[in-house]
Amino acid sequence: MNFKDYIRVIPDFPQPGIKFKDITPLLNDGPAYKEAIAALKELVKHLEIDVIAGPEARGFVIGAPLALELGVGFVPIRKKGKLPYETIEASYDLEYGNDSLTMHVDAIQPGQRVLIADDLLATGGTIATSVKLVRQLGGTVAGAAFLIELGYLTGRDKLEGIDIVSLLKYE
Ligand code: 5GP
Repeated sequence: MNFKDYIRVIPDFPQPGIKFKDITPLLNDGPAYKEAIAALKELVKHLEIDVIAGPEARGFVIGAPLALELGVGFVPIRKKGKLPYETIEASYDLEYGNDSLTMHVDAIQPGQRVLIADDLLATGGTIATSVKLVRQLGGTVAGAAFLIELGYLTGRDKLEGIDIVSLLKYE
């Protein structure tokens, strides 16, 4: 299956000059979505993962079904103010200002091997912040998995030493 056929490229969204990769056609097609998750599973199964963590919101639609396929748990990484229990927080820079991501303090057990999953790797800021949180909780980042990697934004450089897998690459 050519998964790129299910990705819609939207010019100038959300800002002029950006070519947004819209994954909703893939999510909308049952067999394509299922096959994409199965293909990601094949790419990560050697990593001996104990749990998957994914940043909201599109990290959930990749990370949760992948966790089910692998038979491991799923941990949500959320924007500040959304998680109900005690949290840890890490902030990251945006083009204008900054934002922060949070995790529950008991979401990861020390020593657990964690796969971080998201729909797309761009500059790597979201995942670098997620890595920081997982490590702060004592987890080992076993790898990072994406549906799409934007090679031209060199997000990989922010994730040195981490095993990165992606199903599709745009150069
Ligand atoms: P980064 O932090 O690597 O610069 O950006 C990645 C985050 O922004 C991901 O959580 C992803 O959902 C979102 N994102 C950035 N650009 C795109 C895009 O073109 N398509 C999609 N689907 N998400 C994007």
